Amino acid sequence: MRKMPHYRLSCEDGSSKDIQAPNLGAAVKRLKAWVRGGEWCDEGARVIGEVTRITRAGRLIQDESETIRVLIEPNYKALMRRAGASDCDHEWSREGEGAYPENPGVWDGKGTVIFFSAHCIHCGLRRVVRTTTLHRNRYEHDTVQYRMPEPAELVEMRAKGMVESPDAE
Ligand SMILES: [Zn+2]
Repeated sequence: MRKMPHYRLSCEDGSSKDIQAPNLGAAVKRLKAWVRGGEWCDEGARVIGEVTRITRAGRLIQDESETIRVLIEPNYKALMRRAGASDCDHEWSREGEGAYPENPGVWDGKGTVIFFSAHCIHCGLRRVVRTTTLHRNRYEHDTVQYRMPEPAELVEMRAKGMVESPDAE
């Protein structure tokens, strides 16, 4: 059996794991998968991971290391369930969402923040995605929020044709 170099994977949450991989590139791939497989909040995150070559005794070889940012996607299904959404094959539309009629659903936040709002044309579930143009900032990542409309709001959305009526085909 070929002797493979040892690497230590570490994550900014303080956890670490030692592996063997053919080279640094392969170790980085393992790092990504390992970080993604961690337990993260449903909202998603942007996490710093690091891989460093180590000796068999576990001593770090600093000049053979790489730091990467791993984007953890939000758990959309869990977030929607938490908002009280029913089982629905959601279909998103920005039609009728506020701000600018010529560009519905786009809201200017302060500075570099932009909000996109949309709703499901079947059940009325509302979605707001907050995004930033400063994606290089390590702590910034898109966030998404869901909200079920109040009954009166849903009636209004139906009247405006944003959401289909229950008796519609
Ligand atoms: Zn829906």
